[in-house]
Amino acid sequence: MTYGAQDCLLVIDVQNDFMPGGALAVPHGDEVVPVINRLAQVFGHVVLTQDWHPAGHASFATSHAGAAPFQTATLPYGEQVLWPDHCVQDTPGAALHADLHVPHARLVIRKGHHAGVDSYSAFLEADRTTKTGLAGYLREQGVARVFCVGLATDYCVAWSALDARAAGFEAVMVEDACRAIDLNGSLDKAWQDLAAAGVRRTTSDALLAGAASHNPWLPES
Ligand SMILES: [Zn+2]
Repeated sequence: MTYGAQDCLLVIDVQNDFMPGGALAVPHGDEVVPVINRLAQVFGHVVLTQDWHPAGHASFATSHAGAAPFQTATLPYGEQVLWPDHCVQDTPGAALHADLHVPHARLVIRKGHHAGVDSYSAFLEADRTTKTGLAGYLREQGVARVFCVGLATDYCVAWSALDARAAGFEAVMVEDACRAIDLNGSLDKAWQDLAAAGVRRTTSDALLAGAASHNPWLPES
């Protein structure tokens, strides 16, 4: 039993630089890998994303004189958290975690590839106008519901889930298949924003039980 043709598992940024010891480590980020591997087995349709920045990207603190990582800066499109250099195109840090095992993933969306614009979201860049093309792809594939997992809960996963909703998809966060950075209350704020937008929450156990019972529907919230 798998989740149906209208469902897609969206695996956000399971990349080396976001793992413990990586350039922009998410605490316990590696713990999502086995959870996602299990979940992927019950989804016929899986899409992956990779944060994929050119060297000197605008989201890097090193690109701004006198700035330190985790400060914010005002860029032409708005406020931007400045990060340590991470996920530079075609570097080992940008590679997917070696233990991520999703051979049937159909599409890899690379985001943040415009030098001057960040993209937490898999759908819409941080200027909030430039599309990645994912919404159109999912629509053409007949997808109606997106299950969001990966790193980090309060940035790229949350923004992707919010933009999935804004694009007209149902969106579900799989809590234990995500880990957070939690910078200045960002995790609490993310959950508030997600709830307000109608994004549902579930767990991998509930999803797997739904698949096993041939009744793959879900969360209560
Ligand atoms: Zn990035």
